[in-house]
Parts: sequence; C-alpha cells; structure tokens
Amino acid sequence: MAKKQFKAESKRLMELMIHSIYTNKEIFLRELISNASDAIDKIYYKTLSDETLTFQKEDYYIRITAEKESRSLTITDTGIGMTKEELENNLGTIAKSGSLAFKTENEAVDGVDIIGQFGVGFYSAFMVANRVTVKSKAFGSEDAYLWESTGVDGYTIVPCEKAEYGTEITLSIKENSEEYTYDEFLDVYSLQHLVKKYSDFIKYPIKMLMKKSKLKDGSESDYEEYFEDEVLNSMVPIWRKNKNELKPEDYDNFYLEKHYGFEKPLKSIHATVDGVASYNTILYIPKRVPYDFYTKEFEKGLELYSNGVLIMNKCADLLPDYFSFVQGLVDSPDVSLNISREMLQQDRQLQFIAKKIRDKIKSELLSLLKNDRETYVEFFNQFGKTLKYGIYSDFGAHKDILKDLVMFYSSKEEKLITLEEYVSKMADDQKYIYYVCGESIDRVSKLPQTERVAERGYEILYCTDEVDEFALQILMNYQEKEFRSVSSGDLGLDDTTEADNSNEEHQQLFGKMQEILSKDVKAVKASKRLKSHPVCLSTDGGLSIEMEKVLRQMPDGEGMKANKILEINVNHEIFAVLQNAFEQEEEKFNVYTKLLYQQALLIEGLPIEDPVAFTNEICKLMK
Ligand code: ADP
Repeated sequence: MAKKQFKAESKRLMELMIHSIYTNKEIFLRELISNASDAIDKIYYKTLSDETLTFQKEDYYIRITAEKESRSLTITDTGIGMTKEELENNLGTIAKSGSLAFKTENEAVDGVDIIGQFGVGFYSAFMVANRVTVKSKAFGSEDAYLWESTGVDGYTIVPCEKAEYGTEITLSIKENSEEYTYDEFLDVYSLQHLVKKYSDFIKYPIKMLMKKSKLKDGSESDYEEYFEDEVLNSMVPIWRKNKNELKPEDYDNFYLEKHYGFEKPLKSIHATVDGVASYNTILYIPKRVPYDFYTKEFEKGLELYSNGVLIMNKCADLLPDYFSFVQGLVDSPDVSLNISREMLQQDRQLQFIAKKIRDKIKSELLSLLKNDRETYVEFFNQFGKTLKYGIYSDFGAHKDILKDLVMFYSSKEEKLITLEEYVSKMADDQKYIYYVCGESIDRVSKLPQTERVAERGYEILYCTDEVDEFALQILMNYQEKEFRSVSSGDLGLDDTTEADNSNEEHQQLFGKMQEILSKDVKAVKASKRLKSHPVCLSTDGGLSIEMEKVLRQMPDGEGMKANKILEINVNHEIFAVLQNAFEQEEEKFNVYTKLLYQQALLIEGLPIEDPVAFTNEICKLMK
C-alpha cells in the first residue's frame, strides 16, 4: 500500500509536532476529546432533526482506554464518523492552514509558540505518539476505514472492520526520554486528572475503566479488586452551571477548549436570563485582535444552541459589527431546533436576545472601564478602532450606544481618556471639545496649530486613527459640546488680544501670496492660532486635511480636496523678513512664499510636489 503524502503545510506542522519541546503536550487529549464531542454533536443533531432516527442517550459517549504494556492510548467516540474521503481530506490537511502561514510569516516558528497559540487539533497527537491510527465508520455507511501514519512520511488508508459508527483513534505513545515522561499518558489517574482539567464540561460522558476495590463478600478486612466504568467528566455544560460554582480557570479552559482563541481571554461574561426569551450565555472578550480579524476570512458570530444542542457555529445575527470581536455562545430553549439561516433574521426571539446581548456587552465594558481601567485600556488598545468604526458606520446609527466607550489620547493627561472625562474637566469659558489629527501622538503634539488652544490651558484630543475624525464628525457633539478641530476656521477662543491684527498693508501682501499659491490654497491670512511657529495650514468647510488624506486613498477619492488656508504668524520675525521682500525684492518674495507653503505641507505630513526644487531653494539660501 503506497503511502500518500501530506499536503506541504500539514507536513511542516507535523514535523513541528513530532519534534516539539512544548511543555504543554497534554493538550492533545483535550483536542481529541473536543473532536470526538463535535462528532457526537453532529450525529445528535441529525437524530433530533430527522424523525426517522431515534436517539438513545446511552449510545453517545467517548471512551478512553490505556494499555501500559503495548503503550497504546485509545480514544473512541460514537459520533458521526468519517468516510474514506473525509479521512483523506480532514486528516491529510490541516483546517487552520491560514494560521500556520500567518505564524510563519510573522514570527520565527520554533514549535513552541505555534502549538500554544493555535492548538492545532488532531495533529497535536503527534506530540506524544510516534504512530497514530484512526479507525472510522461514517454514519449511514457500510464500510469502515483505517487511516495510519507514523509522521511526516505520509499516511495510508485501508478498509477495515468496525461494528459501530464512530471513530477510534489509537496513539502509540512515545518512549520516555530525558526531557519528557510520556508514561503519564498511559496512567489512568493522570488521564482522569487531565479530563477533569480540560474537558469537564463536555456534554457527553467520557468513560474509562477504573480499577476499584471492595470488601470481599463476608469479609471485614479482605479487599478484592474489580474494574468498573467511571464517567470522568461532570457533563453539565459550563453555561448551565451556577456562576458561583465556577472558577475563572473554568472559563479560561472552556475558551481554549472551544478554540475561541489561543490564549486566555481578557474577560469572560456569564449570564442567565429568564423572561420574554430565556437563555444562557457565555461571552468572551479576547486579549488580542485575532490574526484574521481584518481579513475576509474572519466571521463574526456566537455559537447558537437550542437546549444544549448546537445548531449553528457562527450566528452572525447575535452580534453587531462593532462588537464582532466578542466570542462565545448562546443557549436558548426558545430558539427552534430547525431554524434556518434565512429564518434567523426574522426571528423575534433571536432579535430580542441579540439586543439583550448587545446591552450586556456594553454594560460589562462600562463597568470594566469604571472598575478596572488598566484592563479596559488594554482592551481599547486592541479593539478601540472597531468601536470607533461602529460610531461612524450606518450614518451614526449606533453612536449613542458607543460614545461612552471610546477613548482618545489627551494632550494634558498624556493617556487615553473618555469624552465624559474631557467634558467634566472643561474650563468654564471653553466652548468646544478640541482635537487634532495626525499620524502619531508625537507628531500631532508638535503641530503648530495646537499652540493657542494649548496655551489657553485647554485639553486637546490627539486623533491618530484614520477613523477618528470621521467618528467625531458623525458624533457632532458630546453632552452638547461640539467637537472642533484645532485646524478649523473658527476656534471659538473669543480672544480680544488677538483680534484681527492684520492691517491693510498685510492684506496686500497676503493677496500677493495667494496669487502665487492660487493652485494650492483658497486663502492666505493672519493666523489666530499660531504663537511660536511662522506658518500652518488650516481648512474651512467639512473636509479636513486628515480626511482628505484618508479619502484620497480610496477609489474615486482622487478629487477629494480640503479647502486649505495658509496661515501666517504676523508676530513672528520671519514675517518681517517676508514684508521686506514684499517691498523690495519680488523674486525673493516669490521664493519665500513657496517655501513657507511647503513647510506648512511638511508639518501636516503632506507631500511636496517637487522636493528637489524645494531642497535646491534651501541650499541657495544657505550659501
Ligand atoms: P478542527 O477540529 O479544528 O477542525 P482537527 O485537525 O482537529 O481540526 O480536525 C480536522 C477535522 O477532522 C475536523 O474538523 C473533523 O471534521 C474531522 N475529525 C477529527 N476528529 C474526528 C472525530 N473523532 N470524528 C469525526 N470527525 C473528526
């Protein structure tokens, strides 16, 4: 029987598994049990939704058998089984191949990290076994097949005998080595412990034959040994348990077992609700943005159960887009077992549950913000952008839900603050909530446009995400305080000292400058916002320079242009130089005007049309 080769990626992964020095090798058991449980879920669901099939509860179980002498460990399930093709497709390739590619590109793959972070299912068996055989008979099929592999050199599939439907996976456990004692995976007590640790909430019984002893009949001191099946897990799904029976580790383990993520979550939320619609839910906020979060492959949604039976893996209707990072499940007896994807959207109960879940996520986030700010900031650094997009999306329809959850970097506090915090500290004479946009905190903090506002002692929000200004514009105001960019026309500073200090003569000069820059700016005027810098750009109208930058990256965005105004600081010594040139040397005035405009562009992070000409001019001045 010729060996078939694994697909390239699977082969690499298998190599990693075989040579892994990963200390957490024991997770292989969790992976195999989860697969077994999923397989039983599938057959269980079939019997429930097909009247011709009957369901016998005692027929569904997982069994663990360990044999020390032959060093074999077997995990049997009575699930849906696999056909020959399925054995080939499911075990010859790895489902999460994208994750491997991602890992390989992003970090050195040393076999340690990848297993811990991606828990790669079936393949983890090769961490502890030097041969794996899988006997399987698919539900409804007459034939059974045996898949076998000793590792990277490939696998074989041959017909075999198997009476019941389901799958039997046998691992030939590796010999002990200096680094690792594999014997623990052949010891019933360690196995029992591992099941408790990782798979306690699996719904189906996980059975193992355990050695027991009892007093011999008629004797008061003589014991005899016998074997008895023991169910190792509690079987009550975690979400049906009472919250006070559960420890934080239980939620963490469940999260990992479910592959919701590959490291412990940031926060778990457990709620049991009775009323118009009854449901149990466990929700998780991941610690980190999933690697595929911003790709087409990412699917938002919660697992949907009806009375403990899984009916859908990713029910998107249960989560709004702005909370798409939330993972978890909902179990409700009010959702019909036979509900189809198409019917979901119209389902009143489900809509109701979705709304409750949305409100629950929001209130939990608010309480995190209030009670554990450090963790909230950690969360916001990962998912804040999603919330801000949520404010902007659907023409601001969700802004009221989200406005108290977003944070911006404060010029004064030098950390993230909420809008609520900003407004509560506003000075009595302060009209607006000021913000400035740019690439990075460091850059915006140095923007000359911020000078006057900062000098007034007003706090400025530093907006460094592309979406920020769009979100603020849709929000329009917070607690009736309008948002105002420090680059916008009217700063509302009511400053008498800086009343229009440009005179008639200035106007002529500005007029001339504007002529020179007619292609580029709408106006040139004396600045009310500059203090120590000679120039800056501002805009009038709804489109800011930062928005122009974002929009121009989009298809059809080419024509999007902000109305730019070149502002000159008439109190700056450079202005005197400019005036001199205006009066005496036209050529020089021309050059200075262009240079000042180009400096303003540079400050904004905008490109200069002809950088070579610009530097040539500077060199001329240096000579
Ligand atoms: P994952 O479970 O994340 O999809 P695995 O590598 O663990 O990845 O398994 C690949 C696939 O093989 C599963 O999706 C499932 O279709 C199939 N499979 C694995 N174990 C079993 C089993 N015990 N019974 C039926 N199918 C199984």
